[in-house]
Amino acid sequence: MTNTHAKFLKLITDVPDFPKPGIIFKDISPLLASEWFPELIQELAELVRESVNENNITRIAGIESRGFILGAALAHEMNIGFIPVRKEGKLPPPTVRHSYALEYGTDTIEVKAGTGSVIIIDDVLATGGTLTAAATALTAAGYTVTDIAVLMDLKFLNRFEWQGRAAKSLFAFS
Ligand code: AMP
Repeated sequence: MTNTHAKFLKLITDVPDFPKPGIIFKDISPLLASEWFPELIQELAELVRESVNENNITRIAGIESRGFILGAALAHEMNIGFIPVRKEGKLPPPTVRHSYALEYGTDTIEVKAGTGSVIIIDDVLATGGTLTAAATALTAAGYTVTDIAVLMDLKFLNRFEWQGRAAKSLFAFS
């Protein structure tokens, strides 16, 4: 791990039993609030730059809500557009909806229809359910999901792949 990455990691706090007992929540708020936020975005840009250039990716899709913070800043840094992947009922119609199973019950996300090659961004990849749902919704909405990148991949919880591609990450926890 580089010194840059180590200093980011020091500003990510493990919060036990939030939002439910047994979950160790990775709180990125101290990192977002720090002077290192611009450098974090530059590091994420380095992570995806080759893929964005090679695959002619024209938009970043960010997942509500921490994916909005990282994704919008990254889209600005990469000089490309941003698409919000939102929770149900937040976007005005028409939207493309996708429901997916949770441990208990279901959840629904919505996106606006569009075209072109996109990369999805989120803060944490845990089971992979959210990213799979976002990729499925964006595909149904007309986009080509070419790549996926996260700040942290909790690899011990998932074997995530989208169409044979693993997610890119700044930090992987095995
Ligand atoms: P999953 O669908 O299980 O991969 O969960 C990913 C989504 O839930 C992401 O949008 C994360 O922001 C959030 N999430 C899941 N686990 C954590 C965690 N341990 N710490 C912070 N956020 C998490």
